[in-house]
Amino acid sequence: MYKEKIIEIGKRLYLKNLTIGTSGNISIRSDEGIFITASGTALGNLTPDGIVLINYEGKEIIGGKASSEKMLHTEIYKRRPDINAIIHTHSAYLTTFASCHKALNEPIMSENILYFEEIPVAPYAMPSSAKLVENTAEFIENHDVVMMANHGAVACADNIENAFLKMETAEYYAQVTLNTKILGGAKFLSDNDIKDLINLKNNIH
Ligand code: 13P
Ligand code: ZN
Repeated sequence: MYKEKIIEIGKRLYLKNLTIGTSGNISIRSDEGIFITASGTALGNLTPDGIVLINYEGKEIIGGKASSEKMLHTEIYKRRPDINAIIHTHSAYLTTFASCHKALNEPIMSENILYFEEIPVAPYAMPSSAKLVENTAEFIENHDVVMMANHGAVACADNIENAFLKMETAEYYAQVTLNTKILGGAKFLSDNDIKDLINLKNNIH
């Protein structure tokens, strides 16, 4: 069941142009451990063999060589008991902002203020390094989507469907933000507008 879900989400990431080549990885937390994509797999074309079961120390229990970012996934699950699914991609717009070390925090779209508040950029560290895990996990404590400088982004949620929606919406946020620059800059929402939105959010939830 977990493998089928990962395969389906991989296809949807590919169809939405959110995954490029063999970049990125997906995982789901289960009672048996963590199901995660194997290293070097194309997320749009996964097979059951391309998904590995690992434990919280990153050791492979069933399957081949797990993603090189497996320790990032295990660390997020350790720090965030509310998180059960993680998606990492190098999607174009988030990676553009990540490469410029620019957080997504301008008050331009009411929906995104409610949804994210801010998408920060974790400082650069080598892919798959312990430093990348440390830098990114620190931001994940308070954010469900984090960009990783000069690399890409990671989105996490209570289930894989919501992790996909977060990644898709974050990419759209980055795209629209970039578009506003082309048209000379967005008109920002006022402090009062933002206050009203936060009140609305608090009343809805
Ligand atoms: P893996 O194929 O090992 O998961 O690595 C992809 C990636 O995006 C590394 O940051
Ligand atoms: Zn990566």
